[in-house]
Amino acid sequence: MSIIVQKFGGTSVATLERMKSVQKKVMAARAKGYKVLVVLSAMAGETNRLLALANEWSANPDPAETDVLVATGEQCSIALFAMLLKDSGVKARSLLAHQIPIYTDDSYGRARIHGIESGTLENLFNHYDVLVAAGFQGKDHKGRITTLGRGGSDTSAVALASALGSVECEIYTDVEGVYTTDPNMCKDARKISHISYDEMLEMASMGAKVLEIRSVEFAKKYDVPVHVRSTFSDNVGTLVTKENKIMEHVLVSSIAYDKDQARVTLRSVPDTPGVAAKIFSPLADAGIVVDMIVQNPSRDGVTDMTFTTPRKDIKKTIAIAEDICKKLGGNAELTYDLNVAKVSAIGVGMRNHSGVAAIAFAALQKENINIMMISTSEIKISILIEEKYIELAVRTLHDMFIGTADKIVCDETNYN
Ligand code: ASP
Ligand code: MG
Repeated sequence: MSIIVQKFGGTSVATLERMKSVQKKVMAARAKGYKVLVVLSAMAGETNRLLALANEWSANPDPAETDVLVATGEQCSIALFAMLLKDSGVKARSLLAHQIPIYTDDSYGRARIHGIESGTLENLFNHYDVLVAAGFQGKDHKGRITTLGRGGSDTSAVALASALGSVECEIYTDVEGVYTTDPNMCKDARKISHISYDEMLEMASMGAKVLEIRSVEFAKKYDVPVHVRSTFSDNVGTLVTKENKIMEHVLVSSIAYDKDQARVTLRSVPDTPGVAAKIFSPLADAGIVVDMIVQNPSRDGVTDMTFTTPRKDIKKTIAIAEDICKKLGGNAELTYDLNVAKVSAIGVGMRNHSGVAAIAFAALQKENINIMMISTSEIKISILIEEKYIELAVRTLHDMFIGTADKIVCDETNYN
């Protein structure tokens, strides 16, 4: 029995009309001889509506009951879709996560999948051709309903694909695949045919919304190829898969950006052992994600420490940083800047080839864009700039590295 997993997002199930497009995709897989496990999200906007309801009813909504509430979004989608299939004569039924079960821990609102009873699904496929499972939800060891965190249906789908040995996990959405950059920013953006798990993880961490980051981690861990494609067209999309030689030959596969950035500097802090820990431990304890960190060389026993955080956390960050300054004493003072944004070039080809950073810096210099901070990883260069230049920076780097064809391809004779 060949099983394929197809996941459809909120916009694909938002109306009866759109669910009919979903049905076409499922029937096409059936025509190829597959048994189909469909994983659905809640209708677009529904999860937000339910969360707002919880906050209206309760000043401090109970996390376990919130999960019972928000899980109904997916319950509604799967029942309606199963009806649609049955009306067309398809042997189909819906399944909630606890009926499978999909086991998770008990971190309500951000539960992690521990295991899936795949035997239930395999037995049911002896009687049904299509099973329609609720994404986003699970069941903990106490038998209570959990949810996996926003966008969690992607993770449900990848986990189910891995448990069932599905050839690939198809994630259907309202875009055609993963793009070299945001098409709204740059008209030359184009669809990527193959991208590695690691590149996709870097893109997701930069806020690319096409796949939820935990689903990519899961896909990487269990080597599940993920095909991101559109519900509303027949074109092939982007295959997120293991790194291969062709990918390694492209220096930069995408340009990502993040406007949700703030830069914070603690000036004149003592340059003694333990100071960094004193600054960053309270921020970590408060759950604030610190990204780039730069410490200046010491002058007269003091130094400046600069870091970036998501802009939405700036109030909390400032309150904590002011407290730290007080505790450090001396002349320690705090400054911050909200008009910053981060642009990144991502590509596994960077692993083995130097010079990418220099090319990026030169391209930005040509446009007179000032670089405020830089951070690099094995496959990414991130540059912090003034927010007003972000569009120009994205276009400049896209043009430099990607253009309308894969421009800079590693050639063993030119690099190394
Ligand atoms: N319905 C959930 C959400 O909106 C899960 C999902 O769509 O993936 O976050
Ligand atoms: Mg989604």
